[in-house]
Amino acid sequence: MEIKITRAQTLKEKPDSSTLVFGQSMTDHMLIVDWDEGQGWHDARIVPYGPLSIDPAAKVLHYAEEIFEGLKAYRTEDGSIQLFRVKDNIERMNNSADRMNLPKIPEDLAMQSILELVKLEQDWVPSEKDTSLYIRPFMIGLDAALGVHSSHHVQFIVIVCPVGAYYPEGLNPVKIYVEAEDVRAVKGGTGMAKTGGNYAASVRASDRAERNGFTQVLWLDGVHNRYIEEVGSMNVMFKINGKIVTPDLNGSVLPGITRRSCIQLLKDWGYDVEERRIDVDELFAAAESGALEEAWGTGTAAVVSPIGELARKGEEVMVSGNKIGPITQKLYDELTGIQWGRIADTHDWITKVC
Ligand SMILES: *Cc1c(COP(=O)(O)O)cnc(C)c1O
Repeated sequence: MEIKITRAQTLKEKPDSSTLVFGQSMTDHMLIVDWDEGQGWHDARIVPYGPLSIDPAAKVLHYAEEIFEGLKAYRTEDGSIQLFRVKDNIERMNNSADRMNLPKIPEDLAMQSILELVKLEQDWVPSEKDTSLYIRPFMIGLDAALGVHSSHHVQFIVIVCPVGAYYPEGLNPVKIYVEAEDVRAVKGGTGMAKTGGNYAASVRASDRAERNGFTQVLWLDGVHNRYIEEVGSMNVMFKINGKIVTPDLNGSVLPGITRRSCIQLLKDWGYDVEERRIDVDELFAAAESGALEEAWGTGTAAVVSPIGELARKGEEVMVSGNKIGPITQKLYDELTGIQWGRIADTHDWITKVC
């Protein structure tokens, strides 16, 4: 499909890339593609970045008919720009679309949209260490009617913004609180879809944890309130007695691409990786006995995030002596090495932009 480009009249001043705050400085342009029932996808265009004009009755505003993705464009040492596992993001977006009854976007159209926008905004891809251009594709249902139905008019939109390291102070271990009341998702619900509603349901617990001095919450399953699902908006992994364990993709866990990449690398390195149910009592018992060697979260924004302390009502345990563990560090070094082009891509994970 041809993408029509309308350039911004004036360009914004680019932020200082040593002080970037995650998700705050949007670039000069955005990409929009319309979808209408019976007509399909049409009118792909790049336009100056700015507010959307939508009807106050639009379904996205009332019934959260929305899905999104998150990935990054990295500037390599030779100045070129590349993406990491973008095909996986597009595939996951279509799986989310399926769950939320939104239209699927042809993979080549989604790919072309992301590539053309990043190419146009290439001067916004920073080159300082650990910086990148965050890419946020999303899809919203726009029918202006209050009935609860799937949408006949939808937009696919891509916005991008330069970002620094997720934790500017470096890879420091975080403190995690086990959330005993709220749940993020349940089987049969929307936990496996990347959709805004999951996040809306999670902010109360995250805020509560933050107020109590924790960085994030550890989510338990919604049926037994007992099996570990995720940490904040990341997947979670543990090293217990030399083995790597991580919750299996049971329908309420988001299938993270960083998770999948870590599992691949760990297997390449000869580790046993178990994807299974993990009882929170098992985890605390392992921590008490010293069998829990490392714990970390995985996600595009932070890559890996070491867990240094786990707490639940009346109980607090330290992990890895509150230091980043060797496997966590090795995963971070390997993944960021591949993403920024310092380490050879032997898994066909990289797509060159320009
Ligand atoms: C996006 C997301 C993740 C991480 O997925 P990546 O593809 O690794 O970035 C994990 N959990 C939730 C709830 C998410 O939304």
